[in-house]
Amino acid sequence: MTATQPLELLAPLSGVLLALDKVPDPVFASRMIGDGLCIDPTSQTLCAPLAGVISNIQDSGHAVSVTDDNGVQVLMHIGLDTVSLAGKGFTRLVEEGQRVEAGQALIEFDADYVALNARSLLTLMLVVSGEPFTPLASGLVERGQPVLQVSSGNRVEEADEEEADARFSKPLTLPNANGLHARPAAVLAQAAKGFNASIYLHKQTQSANAKSLVAIMALQTVQGDTLQVSAAGDDADAAIKALVALLAEGCGEAIAAPSVPLEARVPASSATLLRGVCASPGSAFGQVVQVAEPELKVTEQGAGETLERAALARGLLAASEALQALQTQAAGSAQAQIFRAHQELLEDPTLLEQAHGLLAEGKSAAFAWNSATVATAKLFQGLGNALLAERAADLADVGQRVLKQILGIQDRAWDLPDCAILVAEQLTPSQTASLDTQKVLGFVTVGGGATSHVAILARALGLPAMCGVGPEVLALANGKQVLLDADTGELHLDPNPAEIEQLETARKQQVLRRQHDVAQASVPAITRDGHHVEVTANVASLQEVEQALALGGEGVGLLRSEFLYLDRNRAPSLDEQAATYSAIARALGSERNLVVRTLDVGGDKPLAYVPMDSETNPFLGLRGIRLCLERPGLLREQLRAILASAGLARLHIMLPMVSLLSELHLARKILEEEAQALGLRELPKLGIMIEVPSAALMADMFAPHVDFFSIGTNDLTQYTLAMDRDHPRLASQADSFHPAVLRLIATTVKAAHAHGKWVGVCGALASEALAVPVLIGLGVDELSVSVPLIPTIKATVRELDLSDCQTIAHQVLGLEEAAQVREALRLYHAATVETSPVVEQ
Ligand code: PEP
Ligand code: MG
Repeated sequence: MTATQPLELLAPLSGVLLALDKVPDPVFASRMIGDGLCIDPTSQTLCAPLAGVISNIQDSGHAVSVTDDNGVQVLMHIGLDTVSLAGKGFTRLVEEGQRVEAGQALIEFDADYVALNARSLLTLMLVVSGEPFTPLASGLVERGQPVLQVSSGNRVEEADEEEADARFSKPLTLPNANGLHARPAAVLAQAAKGFNASIYLHKQTQSANAKSLVAIMALQTVQGDTLQVSAAGDDADAAIKALVALLAEGCGEAIAAPSVPLEARVPASSATLLRGVCASPGSAFGQVVQVAEPELKVTEQGAGETLERAALARGLLAASEALQALQTQAAGSAQAQIFRAHQELLEDPTLLEQAHGLLAEGKSAAFAWNSATVATAKLFQGLGNALLAERAADLADVGQRVLKQILGIQDRAWDLPDCAILVAEQLTPSQTASLDTQKVLGFVTVGGGATSHVAILARALGLPAMCGVGPEVLALANGKQVLLDADTGELHLDPNPAEIEQLETARKQQVLRRQHDVAQASVPAITRDGHHVEVTANVASLQEVEQALALGGEGVGLLRSEFLYLDRNRAPSLDEQAATYSAIARALGSERNLVVRTLDVGGDKPLAYVPMDSETNPFLGLRGIRLCLERPGLLREQLRAILASAGLARLHIMLPMVSLLSELHLARKILEEEAQALGLRELPKLGIMIEVPSAALMADMFAPHVDFFSIGTNDLTQYTLAMDRDHPRLASQADSFHPAVLRLIATTVKAAHAHGKWVGVCGALASEALAVPVLIGLGVDELSVSVPLIPTIKATVRELDLSDCQTIAHQVLGLEEAAQVREALRLYHAATVETSPVVEQ
């Protein structure tokens, strides 16, 4: 590499220079984004500190980056928390991609307005590409005056000529169990920044600027790696000595004396710790309360068929009324839908036929109903049933509800002590929905999965919950004090006061964070380095659309149309359907996306008015688009109804479960014919869900023929790993964080972007804050999330940095399993997002 002239950066504003440490914002003060300086401005026109190209300018006009021809990138951020001004007070004078001269005016701002409405006017100028620099000025400076001298060309991956004079340390072995992940890397970078010398960390042929957290993480070190430190400059020797010592000590991390084999690092339960899967995030400290439903005594012989028939009818009616009441009381439509589905089970012909058959044989109502539900639940577990296709756990729940009615057993609320952490083999959705959250702080179950209805309900109630825990949890004594940390999937059996206090602080912080996130819900999801991610909602009703908009949703990324008419035995008329889609589109307005998914019936989603033959394996059978293409009349009518809303919102139509190109071509042809018949001049956007591995692997073939992709990680995970998405025993493994799933997302995004198409993720993975960095890093453009989580996901995006996300995404694709991915992301999260301040308001 040829030596380049030192680059002088000009003051972008007149004002008083301050050290970054003086900035009252830990994210900037800790130099997490980059090193540079801060100006307390006395002028109001921000100018380019160097000649180059505008690599980013935020829509809100409060931040801009300029990158020169050598790759030196300088970010300027006007004021603190100014993103919340949403552009008010700022006037952009340049466009992204425009070439600018040093000193050229970039942004004008109204200093009075910003000072009054944002936290501070302090403006940052950061060398985000990581080159070292020396200050050229201090105190009061004039706009355009040189303030920093940057050693340009001294980039992250390359050692340059300046390094020719560098001194090298002796090779050392990295002791950290998980390599230099975010936290130790931040400690090392921080220490390196204390020296003037340019310092590099070397691993075999790769080198990283030791002052850059991102560069260190990009080295992807693992325990046992041989590393060397090099430094060039006046304090090189001192720097090498200090950093080698720091590395040997683990960079602030406790290090085990003997090296730990990889297998041993995979989480396992121990005498004081039980592990499971997070079903609902959060943490709680409380006492164990074992809950086991007593087995109900059922007499086989009936007291006469007429009497028993009447008893069954009464039981069914009472259960149906109770379920109706639960729907009415439900806080959200997710809960209401679950109980509506339960109500449907009460009318299921297969189940009733079996029960009546037994009644005709002289059996009691209780025996007949119980036998029918137990046998059908078993059938579901083994084979599935396309007509019902409900979950065995739900069926067992409904079964018990009716049985208690027949036996005249009152559904007594559990008599619970305060601060209860419930422990059970399995909770039913009904039990979960009726938990008294004044007393119950969380629950732990042996069965269940993260996508089960119980998990959905726990999330809706805000109760921390863990499922898939070993059966030894059932032997814990009632009253035992335990610490449930659902976020990490850990139940601490012998928590010490420090752990409890730490978790309590974290819990309070979470409550504050939630309040803060909701207050900021309307602020766009733009990363700190100016990358906008669209955050939209997964909805199943007009009511949810309205909630989503109130919580800052930027549109609808998935309308699960099959849920609109769940409670019907007859297909809704065309007019009725059209009215529903139009009402939803009108609520969104012409500037927001509405992605309507065509009927995704089959698999685990029955629709009473779409009768289907029973299939041996419904998840691999006539599901989604396959079923609709088999019954084109159904699809045509639905498309006509959807098309009636064209123009009211930015209409997108999405096909579920596409696995073959021919399905897309056929559906497009039908859509074109219907649009033409309606006299529509413009076709709405047409996209497909990526939820089958064949579609992900062939995304490059699909991409030219679609307008967008949306990745359904729920199904993509079950089909990629060949693990039923609701299988209780596979809950901990059927994890969307598995690198195989992430690799398919990466493949999809790459193919889509190569053809200029956007990609969303609408599966549950998008609603997990932990997954946000990896999804953004892989290039996902839109996150369509569960409605209550919109503020959280938007806030998470705002705390990230696209370039860091790309690094971590690249890193996790190389890991072996989901647990390792989660751990890497947790550490990353701890080192970045959690350091962002949340202030009590
Ligand atoms: C998915 O599979 O991820 C998805 C969003 O579709 P559903 O959960 O409705 O099957
Ligand atoms: Mg799906």
